[in-house]
Amino acid sequence: MTEPLRWRRILLKLSGEALMGSQPFGIDPAVVERISVEIADAVKLGAQVGVVVGGGNIFRGVAVAAKGGNRVTGDHMGMLATVMNSLTLADALRRRGVPARVLSAVPVPSICETFTQRGADRYMEDGDVIVFAGGTGNPFFTTDSGAALRAAEMQCDAFLKGTQVDGVYSEDPKINPDAERYTQLSFEEVIQRNLKVMDTTAIALARDNSIPIIVFSIHTPGALVDVLQQRGRYTLVS
Ligand code: UDP
Repeated sequence: MTEPLRWRRILLKLSGEALMGSQPFGIDPAVVERISVEIADAVKLGAQVGVVVGGGNIFRGVAVAAKGGNRVTGDHMGMLATVMNSLTLADALRRRGVPARVLSAVPVPSICETFTQRGADRYMEDGDVIVFAGGTGNPFFTTDSGAALRAAEMQCDAFLKGTQVDGVYSEDPKINPDAERYTQLSFEEVIQRNLKVMDTTAIALARDNSIPIIVFSIHTPGALVDVLQQRGRYTLVS
């Protein structure tokens, strides 16, 4: 029997690295296909899905600056990288028959629509998956913050952060296999203990707008649907 959805309108945040697969850089089409299946399954259950994909698989402003480049230019490159990732994901969704649109905070009108809150709200109500590109549209921010901002603007019921691991741990479980895994945390615990969930700006935005954060593994097939149906493994921050 299909369980009712715990959260109906969601913002799914994926890092750009999630699209790399085992490659050192760029986009692995097989991974994009698999993620599009997960999202399509969530849509079939009646979820309204907004997605933010990072750009770290292509460019990060800080990395460009570390090599002597200009930080703002590097951030502009990073934001454009998120547009590329978003275009790929939206295409994969449309190939599976899921209506999907890229709305970018950085206007690139010959390629995709520019984000407006009202436009996005209407599309989401119609059942389109919205891939929010371009982060916040400003340098010195991250796509985690951009995603928290969109989650607040779109009045999402939850912010789902798909990561490489199945929740929040006391330490990196890949380094310390005995690290403790949490099933539930408060926003304050995450901030005070400096737990690696997202940057503080993103967490504070979610906290101030009472949007729960769910951290789960995007690499576990079926995990997104499991989370929405209150099954599976995840950490809930609320
Ligand atoms: N970026 C930015 N403003 C934003 C969001 C992103 O300048 O609002 C730039 C920044 O350079 C960042 C890059 O885009 O490093 C890619 O985003 P992010 O590092 O958040 O990607 P992820 O780690 O999720 O792949």
